[in-house]
Amino acid sequence: MNKAVEGVLYTGFPSKEELAACPGVPTAERMAKGPVAVIECVQRIPCNPCAGACPFGAIAIPGDITMLPELDEELCTGGGSCVPQCPGLAIFLVNMNYSEEEASVEFPYEYLPLPEKGMEVDAVNWAGEQVCSARVLRVQEKESNDGTVVIRLAVPREYAGEVRSMKPPPKKEM
Ligand code: SF4
Repeated sequence: MNKAVEGVLYTGFPSKEELAACPGVPTAERMAKGPVAVIECVQRIPCNPCAGACPFGAIAIPGDITMLPELDEELCTGGGSCVPQCPGLAIFLVNMNYSEEEASVEFPYEYLPLPEKGMEVDAVNWAGEQVCSARVLRVQEKESNDGTVVIRLAVPREYAGEVRSMKPPPKKEM
């Protein structure tokens, strides 16, 4: 793609350059320590529910409400309460140490049908392109999340930085 038309404003998903400059993305050192929020919010819009969602004050919008959210990676405990609260579906929870070979990736999901725990699914990136096969570890439906379901997948560790959602599973025959 032409460099001039890359980026969230043109494609609907962040470019590598935007993510590299994003103040909500934790360092590789913090990622290696265990579950942490990955806030891939790159567009300056008036929005701040993420900051209020964290009970530990790990997310801050510095200055005016259009600034990008900053993650204090040492304060983040990996609880994930921010994940379903972002209207931009831009917050993920990544645990690089889920198992010897797998990471877990948690993301908000607003499609039907929902997957079931244990199902093998196709994990996709921000662009909706297939990245790898994944296993559903958890499907969290909470009334307080206003209809946003949070899915947790186990993925090969090398894909944890890319997997950001999944393809809906096939509809069941009636
Ligand atoms: S709630 Fe989502 S879109 Fe809004 S500022 Fe926070 S990360 Fe960005």
